[in-house]
Amino acid sequence: MAKGKVTINEDICKGCGLCVSVCPKQVLELSKTKINASGYNPAEAVNDECIACTSCAKMCPDCAITVERF
Ligand code: SF4
Ligand code: SF4
Repeated sequence: MAKGKVTINEDICKGCGLCVSVCPKQVLELSKTKINASGYNPAEAVNDECIACTSCAKMCPDCAITVERF
């Protein structure tokens, strides 16, 4: 299965959690410690199980997610 790496642009993220709910591998969570300049808890990757399905990037209303496949 493909491996992927997900990168969140934390400055753009508004902490809506859509990416968290759509990920089949529970890669993403909203940060409990970080707050961005807009006052939101940004999404972050919490494990390396990403399969590069790109569901999170497609779902993000603010195009804050980049997925690399390798
Ligand atoms: S690309 Fe797929 S597996 Fe990887 S973080 Fe996004 S939704 Fe999860
Ligand atoms: S879907 Fe986009 S804006 Fe919403 S929490 Fe995820 S990265 Fe942030």
